[in-house]
Amino acid sequence: MIDFSFTEEQELFRSAIREWCQKNLPLEKIREMDSKGEIPREILKGMGDMGLLVMTAPQEHGGTGADWVTACIAAEELGYADVSIALPVLWLVESSWGFVVDRYCSERVREECIRKAFKGDAFIGIASTESGGGSDVAAFKSTARRDGNGWVLNGEKIYISGTEEAKKLGGGYFVIARTSPAPEGASHRGMTGFYVPMNAEGVEINKRFEDMGRMAISTGGFMMQNVKVPDDYRIGEVDKGFYLTMEGFDNARILIAAVCVGAARRALDIGMEYIKERKAFGRPIGKFEGIQFELADDWAQLEALKSLTYRTAWMNDMKYKQGKFSALEVGRYIAACKLIAPHLAFDIYKHAMIWMGAYGYTKECPLEMGLRGIMSYCVGAEGASNIQRTVIGRELLGKEYIPYK
Ligand SMILES: Cc1cc2nc3c(=O)[nH]c(=O)nc-3n(C[C@H](O)[C@H](O)[C@H](O)COP(=O)(O)OP(=O)(O)OC[C@H]3O[C@@H](n4cnc5c(N)ncnc54)[C@H](O)[C@@H]3O)c2cc1C
Repeated sequence: MIDFSFTEEQELFRSAIREWCQKNLPLEKIREMDSKGEIPREILKGMGDMGLLVMTAPQEHGGTGADWVTACIAAEELGYADVSIALPVLWLVESSWGFVVDRYCSERVREECIRKAFKGDAFIGIASTESGGGSDVAAFKSTARRDGNGWVLNGEKIYISGTEEAKKLGGGYFVIARTSPAPEGASHRGMTGFYVPMNAEGVEINKRFEDMGRMAISTGGFMMQNVKVPDDYRIGEVDKGFYLTMEGFDNARILIAAVCVGAARRALDIGMEYIKERKAFGRPIGKFEGIQFELADDWAQLEALKSLTYRTAWMNDMKYKQGKFSALEVGRYIAACKLIAPHLAFDIYKHAMIWMGAYGYTKECPLEMGLRGIMSYCVGAEGASNIQRTVIGRELLGKEYIPYK
């Protein structure tokens, strides 16, 4: 027998976070964050007090030890509340990459960064992308060479979320760098993960992008010039960083899907309210099939995505807790979530904006923030759509069908 219900604890958690969001993140606040380009410190502190930050890290390390289904509940509610998706982005980057860092790091990194990130006093993010391209992780040029008991890193990372937050709050990034020459035909090997604090000597923010959306979290780039880090800052085994990077991406992608579910639910709610009120030709426009059928199609597809997302989160929990599924088995479902979610959410925002006519195109309407924010996941943040397709294709057809080999 299959039971699709959430536990009582999960339902209580959803009510608590929903209540917190209603109180702390009204639409006026989201507009203010979007205009000012920052997430207020008290919001982060409040999330820390609620145990929401890096909530996936285990209790024995100071986290909440939330499983991935529970994390998706938080993601969905945050996505619903912050239509600009800036706050959900910051939250999910920390919840997915903070989890990986915490899982494989030394006690020193935990002390210097993760324990602070739980309280909103530090930021932990991912810095993998380089100017040569983000999809081809194995082609990255950043290097780390051994230096006595530590390492020296050189290279440049670009299109990185949260560079200004990391500078302001403290904390740093999971950075992937080449530590050994790649064996023939296996360029993904020979890379290692490191924790690189943003205040380390030799780290310099050299890019600040003005994005089209999710304005309250920064996107930038930084140089690493002879950055010395102790071996304690190494994350996981030497030359195995690629696998940790894939683990982080997988976890992030599930949360992205859940954020998109929440964000799209909000667009439908705002849209439905409008089409019940707005009259044309003597009746509410929600009576016209042209609008009502689009709403029904959107809702049906969103429910399908929601089921896939929570099922995939459950599979991820079974992978970690019971070894019931392998990373590759879960990976294709995760790729499907990341492939579908941003594009569906984007379409739902677009539809709801069009129902609203001219009003939908103004900044008086909150939906334009969602359209701009979700686009970041359509273009490729945490992995481009075609890369999700290659993951699914590889699992369906076999490794010999990997297009880039
Ligand atoms: C707002 C935002 C925030 C970001 N934050 C971070 C961050 O915090 N940390 C970080 O490391 N990165 C971050 N990124 C970068 C993101 O990870 C990359 O954009 C992504 O990996 C794609 O890399 P790229 O942009 O260089 O595109 P490319 O890899 O150059 O790809 C360009 C296009 O080619 C397609 N393509 C590539 N390979 C194939 C293939 N084999 N088959 C078919 N099509 C292919 C892609 O689908 C894409 O459409 C962020 C990006 C954005 C937009």
